[in-house]
Amino acid sequence: MIVLGAGVIGVTTAYYLAKAGRAVTVVDRQPGPGMETSFANAGEISPGYASPWASPDVPKKAPRWLLMEHAPLIFHPKADPAMWVWLLRMLRNCTPARYAQNKERMVRLAEYSREKLIDLRGKTGIAYDHRSLGTLQVFRTQSQLDGVAKDIEVLAAGGVPYQLLDQMGCLEVEPGLAYARDEIVGGLRLPNDETGDCYAFTTALAACAAELGVDFQYGVRAAHLEIDRGRVARVHTDAGPFEGAAFVVAMGSYSTGLLRGLGLQLPVYPVKGYSITAPIADYARAPESTLLDETFKIAITRLGDRIRVGGMAEISGFSAELDPRRRRTLEYSLESLFPGAADTKASTYWTGLRPMTPDGTPVVGPTPLPNLYLNTGHGTLGWTMACGSAHLIADLVCGHEPDIRFDDLGLSRYQQPFSRRAASRTPRSPSGAGPEADLPNVSYDSAADAPETTRA
Ligand SMILES: Cc1cc2nc3c(=O)[nH]c(=O)nc-3n(C[C@H](O)[C@H](O)[C@H](O)COP(=O)(O)OP(=O)(O)OC[C@H]3O[C@@H](n4cnc5c(N)ncnc54)[C@H](O)[C@@H]3O)c2cc1C
Repeated sequence: MIVLGAGVIGVTTAYYLAKAGRAVTVVDRQPGPGMETSFANAGEISPGYASPWASPDVPKKAPRWLLMEHAPLIFHPKADPAMWVWLLRMLRNCTPARYAQNKERMVRLAEYSREKLIDLRGKTGIAYDHRSLGTLQVFRTQSQLDGVAKDIEVLAAGGVPYQLLDQMGCLEVEPGLAYARDEIVGGLRLPNDETGDCYAFTTALAACAAELGVDFQYGVRAAHLEIDRGRVARVHTDAGPFEGAAFVVAMGSYSTGLLRGLGLQLPVYPVKGYSITAPIADYARAPESTLLDETFKIAITRLGDRIRVGGMAEISGFSAELDPRRRRTLEYSLESLFPGAADTKASTYWTGLRPMTPDGTPVVGPTPLPNLYLNTGHGTLGWTMACGSAHLIADLVCGHEPDIRFDDLGLSRYQQPFSRRAASRTPRSPSGAGPEADLPNVSYDSAADAPETTRA
């Protein structure tokens, strides 16, 4: 089996495949695991917070967010058709019915993932600055607090435990907020959520996977997939070809380009985010767990003796530029809620590209090619959904019955007839056999990225 990508998604996939007894090779262009988007994310494992960005409120609120001094949303329009198509599809998902269905899918995967993560942690004993103290979304205005009623309805309907807290209640769970009590009016706590360092998790799990026999090929760039007799025969890389019985693409935002070569249109587009990580200067003033600053959509997380502050959604294509204005916003949010808690002068600054689908749900499942699987598009909550997605893919690859419904999690939910012509254009079959020879007869019967109101 070949897994392409050693971010948190590729590594968890490799781990579960190896646990199921498969021989696995992981290919990644970086010198180690978890070095791109999984490197310095906000550190939440938050099934309770799993919801698509494409919500009915977004078209109304987006213009205001774009104009804020400390903007949670930034848009750099480009002459890139993929950007505009993705945006339009995202907007089409902002109806109450689509939001409800997309959310249900995400919560299904995230809750399953929580179960699998707890099990994995117990079995491997891996450490990653993990804490199980819940998360707290804090509101700076009464109107934010009043507006939470809708979220609570959804949480209650999904059976997700929650606590609505006044100012004093927030201070009880996060005593460090005492130094900024006037900044907040209340909060919503999700006690089942967890926190930790995703990079530490990914590297520790990669070590467990290596012990199980997984062969990690680092510093190797995947260039294209070659089809032979309707199956993926090999992946061509700058270190030569790699053959396998099955292939799982887990290259985050870069999965889209690889699949385009096969005529498969994956609707995953990068949405950039930023984080800073600073050493704790005063433990009494520091957060205990994750705190979500609703005003700026920023998460502030305690990671051992450090504080991670992450957020922002910037639509600017595949840009890795570190804009100093975003750093100021992260520091502003941290300093206004936990003044003096961190030594921000000693902080590191980072950016990553969230692999986002227009409907928020990742793309986890089979493709029209019988030995090609996708595990990508996890967007805002990739770590939260990693263990569930990876276990699901491992079950599908190994022919086991998955534990959860999965028919609406894959590529087929986008109306995307497989382009036989595109596949036949692939000039990469050394066998000389036509790539169309045994193309599977897969029918895409779902509507375009247009989930209706049916629930699982
Ligand atoms: C600011 C920010 C905050 C976030 N906060 C959270 C959070 O609190 N909780 C949460 O659950 N999620 C969070 N996320 C989202 C989460 O980090 C991502 O969803 C997740 O890391 C995606 O993992 P991945 O393995 O798909 O992608 P990546 O980690 O990017 O891995 C993809 C891998 O593919 C490799 N690759 C790409 N192209 C090639 C190629 N051609 N050849 C070989 N290898 C290749 C890359 O080197 C990389 O290692 C956050 C994201 C950001 C940006």
